[in-house]
Amino acid sequence: MSAGRYAPSPSGDLHVGNLRTAVLAWLFARSTGRSFVMRVDDLDRVRPGAEERQLADLASLGLDWDGPVLHQTTRLDAYADAVDGLVERGLTFECFCTRREVLEAPTAPHHPPGAYPGTCRDLTAAERDERRQVRPAAIRLRAGIDTWTVHDTVHGEVTGAVDDLVLRRGDGMPAYNLTVVLDDAHQHVDQVVRGDDLLSSAPRQAYLARLLGLPAPEYTHVPLALNADGARLAKRDGAVTAAELRDRGIDVLSLIAESLGLPPTLDAMLEEFDPAGLPREPWVVTPPT
Ligand code: GLU
Repeated sequence: MSAGRYAPSPSGDLHVGNLRTAVLAWLFARSTGRSFVMRVDDLDRVRPGAEERQLADLASLGLDWDGPVLHQTTRLDAYADAVDGLVERGLTFECFCTRREVLEAPTAPHHPPGAYPGTCRDLTAAERDERRQVRPAAIRLRAGIDTWTVHDTVHGEVTGAVDDLVLRRGDGMPAYNLTVVLDDAHQHVDQVVRGDDLLSSAPRQAYLARLLGLPAPEYTHVPLALNADGARLAKRDGAVTAAELRDRGIDVLSLIAESLGLPPTLDAMLEEFDPAGLPREPWVVTPPT
C-alpha cells in the first residue's frame, strides 16, 4: 500500500491556502493511484471544535480519505518507544537548554542560525545530575552529520541542515520532527505534499527516518498562499476561511481550481491534473473584506 496524506494542526480554521494545499495533496495521491489518509496533529495548539470544522471544510470540497483519521494523541506509546530505541543505541543526549539559550548561544560557523550549538552534547554525568535539579531534560538526537539531501518534486535535490534536533521536549512531549516521521511510516505514506514552509524540515525528517530504518517519502513542497503585501496569508487578511468565503457567495473549490489553472470540479481537476504544470510561484490572494 502507498498513500498520500494531509495532516492539519487543529489550531483554528483552515484558510483557503491550507485548503488549496489539501486539494493538491489529494490530487497527487489520487492521480497516482494512492490511498489518501488524514492525520490530525493534535499534540499541541488544539482549539476546541477546530478539528471538526477543518474536516468538515475538507469534506465540503469533495475531498475523501481512506480509513479512520489518525490522531497523534493515540500514538504516544509509539513515539516513546522510538525515542527509547534511539537512546539505547546511544544516538541521543539530554539537553537542558532553554529556547532562549539555544538562540543566544554562538553557533559554529558551518551551522545555520538557530541550529543547536552543541551546548549539552558532552556534559559529564555529574553535570547532567546537577542540571536535572534545575529542569527536566529534553532528549536530542546526536546527529552524525550536518546536512542531508532529499528529493522534492518541485524543488529537485534539496540539501538542508540537520542539527541535534529535539526528539522529546523537556515537558515529556514528543517533538514534531519525530512524530511526523513515525506517523507517515505508520500510515504507509510515501508521498508527502505540504506547504513549502516545511521544506527546510524535510532533510532532518528524512535523516531521522533513515536512522529509524524507515523509508523516506517522496516530497512535494507546494508554494504557499500570500496576501497582497507578500506576507503569508492569515485570518486577518479578510474573508479567507471556507465559511467566510461561502458567506460572500464565493465557491471555494472554483477559486482554488482557478489558481491552479484547472476546471472547477474535483473530478475534472483530477482528470486534467499534471504535476509538471503545478504553479511554482506563491498564490497571491486578495480576499473580499
Ligand atoms: N501539522 C503540520 C502543520 O499543519 C503539518 C505537518 C506535515 O505536513 O508534515 O503545519
